[in-house]
Amino acid sequence: MRKTFRERVISKFTNIAKKNRFLKYPCLALMSVVLGIYYIGRHFVTNTKRYASVAFVIFFFMSSCSFSFAVFAEKTGFIKAQETYSAVVADSDVTLAAMETKDAGSEEKEEEEDRFTYTEEEYIDSDGTAYTLDDILENQEDFQAQGSQAETSEEDYEFESSDWRLVLINKQHPIPDGYDFELGTIVGSMMCDKRIISDLLAMMQAARSDGVNLVIKSPYRPDSRQETNFNARIKKYMGQGYSYMEAYKRTSQVITVPGASEHQVGLALDITCDTYDELNEGFGDTKAGEWLAEHSCEYGFTLRYPEGKEYITSIDYEPWHFRYVGREAATIMRDESICLEEFWDKYL
Ligand SMILES: [Zn+2]
Repeated sequence: MRKTFRERVISKFTNIAKKNRFLKYPCLALMSVVLGIYYIGRHFVTNTKRYASVAFVIFFFMSSCSFSFAVFAEKTGFIKAQETYSAVVADSDVTLAAMETKDAGSEEKEEEEDRFTYTEEEYIDSDGTAYTLDDILENQEDFQAQGSQAETSEEDYEFESSDWRLVLINKQHPIPDGYDFELGTIVGSMMCDKRIISDLLAMMQAARSDGVNLVIKSPYRPDSRQETNFNARIKKYMGQGYSYMEAYKRTSQVITVPGASEHQVGLALDITCDTYDELNEGFGDTKAGEWLAEHSCEYGFTLRYPEGKEYITSIDYEPWHFRYVGREAATIMRDESICLEEFWDKYL
């Protein structure tokens, strides 16, 4: 009768071991390895259909998931569209150039930089321009900051979830389908929702009377730019050896997921001042940072990502990122120290 593979392997190794005692244990080990590989291989061969269907499911999932698709498609050559992952990333010269200069340095240092100097909006403005109130007024001589709106009594104010000012946008709540708004020009190419400009200018005027010269760094941001920034950051993390999923997770901690940024609907602005240009946590301790935290609500703006609320917002503390929600809501948020998510839970 013909010997099975297993029997042949065992007899072969037994013979060798019998001839040479010193080889007894190495033979035993080698034999286990050979048999192990044999059985694993056989398992796959006899279960071909099962593994093929698992592979098919994974393939289907990846090709239907919009985010992994680009990476996947490019690696496999599945599509040769312009909009592949690297095409999108290569688009952002500024971002990549800035990233490359950061290549050197230990991981620890990189982490430190990430937390304290690199921020969501660092590379946003195409020409790197920031505007002060003077620049804005200079370009809009006939624009009259309307100042405070009529006082409303906050006590009997009814909030409605359909109010455009209160639209909730975060990782769990992307921009609603069909959300529509009109852009207005602040100055140059800087735009935001037209309806908030007068309050914005009133706030800048008021700050100036208190000796604080605010500077707008980043207002409305179109989808494509958000996506470019996001992808570039993922690529950076992957370059540091993180897996795609891990890189995605880390990226979403510092940059809002495309489709989930308030900048995309023109309701958020990044604001610094003429004496402190960095978008980092230190801004919160400047006179301007403190002024904004205290008074922005009087003009309808709220500090959207406060310190200590990271576990709710999923975004690191950003003392420069202000979101328009209207005076009534903003005042409640400041007085009760709650963020927009908490406001929704309580009032809507
Ligand atoms: Zn921002």
